[in-house]
Amino acid sequence: MNNSFSNKNLKNLNSENLDWKEIQTQMKNKLGLEVYESWLKKINFVDEFNNYILLTVPTRFIRDWITSRYLDQILQIIKNHKKGIIRIEFKISDQNSEKDDKERKFTQSSENQENISFIKDSYLQYNRIDPNKRFDNFLTGSSNKLAYEASLKVTENISNYNPLYIYGGVGLGKTHLLNSIGLELKNNNKVMFISAERFMYQFVKSIKSNDMVKFKEYFRNTDILLIDDIQFMNGKEAMQEEFFHTFNALLDKGSQIIVSADRAPNKLPRIQERIKSRFSGGLVVDIQKPDYALRKRIVERKTEELNNFYSDQLKISSEIQDYISTEVTASIRELVGAINRIVSFSRIYKKTPNLAETKVILKDLLNLIENKVTIDLIQTLVCKFFKISKNEMLSSRRSRYLVRPRQTAIYLTKILTSKSLPEIGREFSNRDHTTIIHSVKTIEKLKEKDPEMTDNINKLKNQILYNSKDNEI
Ligand code: ADP
Ligand code: MG
Repeated sequence: MNNSFSNKNLKNLNSENLDWKEIQTQMKNKLGLEVYESWLKKINFVDEFNNYILLTVPTRFIRDWITSRYLDQILQIIKNHKKGIIRIEFKISDQNSEKDDKERKFTQSSENQENISFIKDSYLQYNRIDPNKRFDNFLTGSSNKLAYEASLKVTENISNYNPLYIYGGVGLGKTHLLNSIGLELKNNNKVMFISAERFMYQFVKSIKSNDMVKFKEYFRNTDILLIDDIQFMNGKEAMQEEFFHTFNALLDKGSQIIVSADRAPNKLPRIQERIKSRFSGGLVVDIQKPDYALRKRIVERKTEELNNFYSDQLKISSEIQDYISTEVTASIRELVGAINRIVSFSRIYKKTPNLAETKVILKDLLNLIENKVTIDLIQTLVCKFFKISKNEMLSSRRSRYLVRPRQTAIYLTKILTSKSLPEIGREFSNRDHTTIIHSVKTIEKLKEKDPEMTDNINKLKNQILYNSKDNEI
C-alpha cells in the first residue's frame, strides 16, 4: 500500500508533460460527449511551454467556436493538472483541407505559411506578423487615438519616439498596433516581433544549448524590435541583464524599439528599475476602453465585412448591432468575439439570432445585466418617453395613446428580463397572460412595418440598459 502510494507520487512529480489523454477524458466528462465528439476531439496537443500550451485544431472555424465557448473550461481542466499554465494557444493544422476554405480566405494570415514542426527551432518562427492587423483596419476613437498616432509616427520617422511604450488592458488593440508597425516596416528593415514570453523561452533555451552568441547576434541585428506583453517578463536576473544590454545596444545603434504592456512602466512588478526607467525614457502612451461610438463603429465595420463576405446570406440586424455595442463593453477583443459568435450561430442554424438568442450566445460576455433590469425601471422610462403617468399605464383604460406605451413596456419587459408571462401580467395590474402575449406579438409586428417604432424601441432599450447599469454602481 505504502509502496504504491509513493510510486504514484513519484510518477506525478516526474511527469513533466501534460497527460493529454487524461485531459481529453476530463473534457468529455465535464463538457459532455456531444460537445466533445463534435468539437473537442479535434484538438491535438503539440507542446508545452513555460506558462502556456500549444494545441492544434483543424480549422479556423473550429478554433473560433472552441475558444468562444469552451476555452475557459478547458483551461481550468488543464490548470488542475498544471497550475503554471495560464493560457492556451491554438494553431490551425489543416491548412490545405478543402473544407472551410471560405473561412480561410476570409481571414488569411501569415499563420498559413507556418510550419508547426519548426516552431521551436527557428527564431524566424517567432516573427509572426499577421497581415490582417493593419493600420488601415484599426479604427480610432478618443480611447486609442494617441497610441495609434504615435505608432504611425514611428513608421514615418524612425527614432522620433524611442522606445515607444504602449500600455492598456487586455484586448484593447496593443498587439494590433505593434503588428501594424511591423507590417509597415518589414520590407525595408529587419523587424523582430516577439512576445516577452517567447523572448524568455528563447533565452533559456539558448543558454541550455550553449547558443548565447547566436541569440545575442540575432537580437542585436534587428532594426525594429517589437516586444509584446512585457509584463510577462519576470525574474531571472541573468535574462534581465541580457535584455537590458540588448536594449541599450539597439538604442545606441539607432534601432527602434516598441514595447507593449498591460500597465505603466513604473507599475511593472519584478522588472529591474533601470529597465523601467529606460521604458519611461521614450514616449509612453496608453489605450483606454472603447467608448460607445467606437464600439458601434467596430461592430458596424466588422458586420459589413462579414456581410460582404457571405454575400448577403447573413444580415445581423441593426437591433442586434446596437445591442452588442451597448452591452459588450469590456474590450475590443470581446466585441469582435461577440460578432464571430453570432456568425457561427447563423451559419449553423441557418438564420441570424434574435435578441433573446443573442443574449444566450453572448451570455458570458455580458455583465448579466438582465437581473438588474427591473419592471419598475422599464415602466418608469417608458412612461417618461411617451409622456404619460404610471397610473395611466397601469390603468385599464384602452385609449390609443395609452395602449401603445403599455404594450411597449410589456414587450420590453419580455425581452429584457427573464420574467414569465404570468409574472409580467401581475406587474401590469394583473393582466392575463394572453394579453401579455398579444402585446408582445403586436409590437413585434409593428416593428417589422414601422421604422419609427423600431427606432423608439431601440432608444428605450438602450436607455433601460444604460440606467440599469448606473443602478449597479
Ligand atoms: P491586446 O493586444 O491589447 O490584448 P489585440 O491587439 O489582440 O489586443 O486586439 C484584440 C482584437 O481586437 C484583435 O482582433 C484586434 O484586431 C481587434 N482590435 C483591437 N483594437 C482594434 C481597433 N481599434 N480597430 C479594429 N480592431 C481592433
Ligand atoms: Mg496582445
